[in-house]
Amino acid sequence: MRIVALEEHFTVPRIAAGIAPEVVARRGFPGPDFPWAQTLKRSELAELGAARLADMDQSGISVQVLSVAGPGADLVPGQAGIDLARAYNDALAEACARHPTRFRGFAHLPLLAPEAAAAELERAVRDLGFHGVLVNGATDGRFLDHPMYAPVLAQAAALELPIYLHPGIPTPAVRAAYFDDLPGNFGFTLALSAWGWHADTAIHVLRLALGGALDRHPGLRLVIGHMGEALPFMLDRIDETTAAEAKLRLRRSVRQTILDQVWITTSGFFTLTPFMAALMAFGADRIMFSVDYPFASNARARAFLDALPVSPADRAKIAHGNADRLLRLAG
Ligand code: ZN
Repeated sequence: MRIVALEEHFTVPRIAAGIAPEVVARRGFPGPDFPWAQTLKRSELAELGAARLADMDQSGISVQVLSVAGPGADLVPGQAGIDLARAYNDALAEACARHPTRFRGFAHLPLLAPEAAAAELERAVRDLGFHGVLVNGATDGRFLDHPMYAPVLAQAAALELPIYLHPGIPTPAVRAAYFDDLPGNFGFTLALSAWGWHADTAIHVLRLALGGALDRHPGLRLVIGHMGEALPFMLDRIDETTAAEAKLRLRRSVRQTILDQVWITTSGFFTLTPFMAALMAFGADRIMFSVDYPFASNARARAFLDALPVSPADRAKIAHGNADRLLRLAG
């Protein structure tokens, strides 16, 4: 069975080294004294050759759609950020050219310069053959519903390719209010993978829906990972509590807006409880396999895919069919 995974990460250390350490630290990335440095997977992220392909082969993963793991060009203002994004995208295009049947790309954008970001997205798709864009959370505290990002949303809609809304480290004010002052490293973990990332990304989607951006760009397609970032569980509640005002301000209910324009992936989530909620809320046409390599295991993700309680036709949609269509991977 063809298997496509689309929340799969890489970095290029020589390019990342061009970002000032104080800028990286300000965004909240852990420094060299981080107690679990191995969880950062630096060497796996930097490898785009035989070892990555061997790991994919062992689990029967046909294609990784690759995206930059932070820190990235969204931390760097002006021409330097624009140059950094171009360098990342060119490096990824080279890796894809070396293994064109195995690696595909999501664009990386200089989001502090939105007009340039829209232009870089167009270049990455038209000239480099990429399949959309991945955005790591808020940029300087702003989500993509901010009016400054209208050119990026319009560009993605015009290209008919998705924006993957990936988690980013919550802003300092959010971290201070919700996550600091816990014992040991609980505050860091709770702000990121245990809770904060997922709440943050769900809020990103909801701001785009409630703020009207998805109505203004009805051709815009969003992808979110982690089995829908808790939206499958919350969607009925959100729909009910926003229904009256949505009738006045939006073209559709919030539920319909999200079901029309959002796809979800299985990245990092390999248990049945959240999958069943995702299947019931979004349906098999909107769920796509992903791993979150190298932070999650290809083997574990593959075993989960094989064990899903779905028909062979739905398993094929989740494994590759939905992604092939949404990202135009086959052509
Ligand atoms: Zn990820």
